[in-house]
Amino acid sequence: MAEQSQTRKILLIDDDRMQFRVTQQLFKTFRGEQYDLDWASTYEEGIEKLMGGGYVACLLDYQLGPRDGLVLIREAIGRGCRVPIIFLTAESGEKVDIEAMNAGALDYLVKGEINARMLERSLRYALKLGDTLQELRRLATRDQLTGLFNRREFERILQEQKTQAADARTEFSLVLVDIDHFKRVNDQHGHPAGDEVLRELARRLLGAVRGNDQVARIGGEEFAITMPGTPKTAALAVARRLAEAVRSRPVRVAEGLELPVTLSVGVASHPVDVTAKTDIVMAADKALYAAKTGGRDRVVAAGEA
Ligand code: GH3
Ligand code: MG
Ligand code: MG
Repeated sequence: MAEQSQTRKILLIDDDRMQFRVTQQLFKTFRGEQYDLDWASTYEEGIEKLMGGGYVACLLDYQLGPRDGLVLIREAIGRGCRVPIIFLTAESGEKVDIEAMNAGALDYLVKGEINARMLERSLRYALKLGDTLQELRRLATRDQLTGLFNRREFERILQEQKTQAADARTEFSLVLVDIDHFKRVNDQHGHPAGDEVLRELARRLLGAVRGNDQVARIGGEEFAITMPGTPKTAALAVARRLAEAVRSRPVRVAEGLELPVTLSVGVASHPVDVTAKTDIVMAADKALYAAKTGGRDRVVAAGEA
């Protein structure tokens, strides 16, 4: 195992101070890696600390005041928490075990039976499994060449944002980007040069977007940016800035070889460009097509097309 430069932090969420004391004592006798134990005594404090980040694992009390640990773990996972969680319960039983597992816990330990070896081992397994799950998630959601989200993850994000926008009645925008005459790059300079253009474009896209925007590679030389809470005028401004960031600076693909790159871009927004028959992707796609047929190297908004 790689040496840790810092002591890793573990969060205990439990309304019983005794449990914190006992766990602290057990931590002191660990033979392998030493961890810092932090404590939250309520649901609210627990979820806040857990979502705040910085913890490599969480020990979670099953009976946590009026709302139990199962509710907390579901809320945390629903909000994107990826910290491995181990349940602590007062009594053992298959029902508790299965409920904990289904909620997303990686293990469960019975409070009265916990000893240092058992706790240390459970944490070690949870951390290892957490790393493996993270790697699997990365492989399933990311494009290998650019590191951007892949098409499948784009579809998931889009669906989530559609639902959120409909629930909250907010606007959100979608920007579709396609490199102009990209085939020529491959034909004239080879596939590795084309790959370098794609990687550099990914970097410039990430550099041009804002905090909540998500960038995906959805086809060979096609990219999508989802912009939650963003009206069309703001999305258009980002799209224009992006096109300019690519147009103004040729991409260096090799020593002494810089290639000019331009983009065709389509922008559409929810709900203004959505009808009973067309969704936001169709609207943005139509705008992108208009940018292509209109001469390329331009940004077109849905409705203008
Ligand atoms: P247009 O302006 O109409 O978009 O023309 P284009 O040449 O960009 O579009 P076309 O769809 O004809 O060609 C896309 C090219 O992208 C063809 C394909 O070889 C190339 N491509 C797709 N994926 C990759 C990749 O991962 N690496 C490289 N180097 N090229 C790729
Ligand atoms: Mg193209
Ligand atoms: Mg294309």
